[in-house]
Amino acid sequence: MRQAARAVLKEVFGYDAFRGQQAEIIAQVSEGGDALVLMPTGGGKSLCYQIPGLLRDGLCVVVSPLIALMEDQVATLDELGVAAAALNSLQSADEQREIAQRIRDGSLKMLYLAPERLVQPRMLAFLETVPLALFAIDEAHCVSQWGHDFRPEYLQLGQLAELFPQVPRIALTATADQRTQEEIRQRLHLQQAAQFVSSFDRPNIFYRIATKDQPRKQLLGFLAEHKGDAGIVYCLSRKKVEEVAAFLAEQGYPALPYHAGLSNELRSYHQKRFLNEEGLIMVATIAFGMGIDKPNVRFVAHLDLPKSLEAYYQETGRAGRDGLPSDAWMAYGLQDMVFLKQMLQNSEGDERHKRIERHKLDAMLALCEETRCRRQALLEYFGETLPEPCGHCDICTDGVETWDATEAARLALSSIYRSGQRYGVGHQVDILLGKQTDKVASLGHQHLSVFGQGKQLSEHEWRGVFRQLVARGLADVDLDAYGGLRLSDTCRPLLRGETQLQLRREVKQSTRSGSKGSA
Ligand code: ADP
Ligand code: ZN
Repeated sequence: MRQAARAVLKEVFGYDAFRGQQAEIIAQVSEGGDALVLMPTGGGKSLCYQIPGLLRDGLCVVVSPLIALMEDQVATLDELGVAAAALNSLQSADEQREIAQRIRDGSLKMLYLAPERLVQPRMLAFLETVPLALFAIDEAHCVSQWGHDFRPEYLQLGQLAELFPQVPRIALTATADQRTQEEIRQRLHLQQAAQFVSSFDRPNIFYRIATKDQPRKQLLGFLAEHKGDAGIVYCLSRKKVEEVAAFLAEQGYPALPYHAGLSNELRSYHQKRFLNEEGLIMVATIAFGMGIDKPNVRFVAHLDLPKSLEAYYQETGRAGRDGLPSDAWMAYGLQDMVFLKQMLQNSEGDERHKRIERHKLDAMLALCEETRCRRQALLEYFGETLPEPCGHCDICTDGVETWDATEAARLALSSIYRSGQRYGVGHQVDILLGKQTDKVASLGHQHLSVFGQGKQLSEHEWRGVFRQLVARGLADVDLDAYGGLRLSDTCRPLLRGETQLQLRREVKQSTRSGSKGSA
């Protein structure tokens, strides 16, 4: 079997060797076993079901949530001479009938379709009448309610186990936290499946997270290390995408915008250019990226905070698929936190869901304020232990200085408390620095005992203190009061003098010298 698999790898796909655990996974499924595959994006999941699909008799059914992804795959397979088709709701009845005919006469080898389509009773009944090689369930984390991509249709895929007990099933995902794994096993009835977990480490990516100061200037500083390189700049809103793309173009960078508000034609035109031309910068919302397979993306920059580590990992993971040194860079600040918390608060979804999302955001914030190796922290979140600091992230190379911020934090918390727990960071900093602003005067805040008590730190440093207090949950942002700060319960021990607090020292933007040589 292994030899046959290797022959297909070479003859059909043109590759000489399997990567990582591909050979083991392919053997497992080709021999009729079930598998759960956790492999980072770009790791080579497709071959794990395509090759067994070719080795086994019958139709290989691939469930995928995204039409665009399916069409890409089908186009690729077509070029390789593999008979593949995707069923989707945009096709005419004739086209669909033709696909059904090819399935019936056994000439079609691979069928891609969306989960809601597969679980239609008519479709299931039809598939019961034809020989099946296997079911591949791509993006299997969509079955997880804990996950960020939950799709209720995925829950119905559990019935495949009962309806097709003889047909092997392989579930694949690039999201690997323990909880998601368990949910996939349980909900897809894959309790007996062999599990294959690849390392999520992307050793060629250098991780760097800067605190936001003058984001555009910081971005230019970062891009100066990447002249002529292809990369992605992620922003949260469509408006910001447009603005940043225009700004970069003005600065002489070949930048294109991409977001869901653009017409389909323009989006796919920009996407094609990014894929086919060299050295373009895509300024995009997260609408851009799923299924983008451009090996030489040299950097991914975030001008806004992603809402989870899963998202951060996925988005940064689009850099350096070719294994060459690449950069993940982000600038983040207090406003990002406020904004995401606000979005979360206003989102639909029940309390349980919101609580999950809050935890995820907290984990993201923790990475930003991390004082250990970023890679160790990131991998730990995905259940993997990296025994030594990586030596290839900003913390490993620049170090972090921490300082005893106990006194400063108490002062900051008092300022929040005494000014009535409803004013934002700017005003708090003015109070601590003793600035006679109009707002201070009109509120009479020059009479507060904390007024002018914080002159030992700069404005920049105070902002850092407030940001870190919020990131650590010691202060809260009051979303009903325009981002005013208030105390949270967890700050009491600190206020009472029972605990000490170490914070990261604020640094101005660090640039990494020789980003390409130091890998
Ligand atoms: P994933 O689905 O895990 O994100 P893909 O299946 O799209 O990853 O594979 C990523 C890229 O790696 C593709 O361009 C694919 O052709 C390539 N690839 C996969 N396996 C191998 C291999 N064994 N040798 C060389 N290239 C491979
Ligand atoms: Zn490190």
